[in-house]
Amino acid sequence: MAETIFQKIIRKEISADIVYEDDEILAFKDIHPIAPVHMLIIPKKPIESIEKMENEDAFLVGKMVRVARDIARDLKISEKGYKLLIRVGEEGGQEIPHLHLHLLGGAKLSEDIHPV
Ligand code: 5GP
Repeated sequence: MAETIFQKIIRKEISADIVYEDDEILAFKDIHPIAPVHMLIIPKKPIESIEKMENEDAFLVGKMVRVARDIARDLKISEKGYKLLIRVGEEGGQEIPHLHLHLLGGAKLSEDIHPV
């Protein structure tokens, strides 16, 4: 798998506004937010996408969801709710081939998903 910008962020070669880090997971603000709260939660392990995850990665992917939930709680957006989004592949709109979970919230967000 080719090196992505997210691996450079993990290695701190490129700066990001990090909101959570442990030995397996990094979470940081999206550089082009589409909502008042827009975080990316990524595994440090370079999994290309949900399509490429192995059975052994299931716990890690679950942990990404838990970290997103905990960030939402910390930011006090849990009560009103938020969206979690994972894009997969070209038609899914995935731009960076390193698995990432979007945490989107802080406002009521559109449901506008339609074929282009
Ligand atoms: P995707 O479209 O692959 O689901 O989402 C990729 C996301 O990564 C986009 O929302 C984009 O704004 C974000 N992104 C791309 N490059 C950078 C970067 O260098 N830093 C940060 N913080 N976010 C980035």
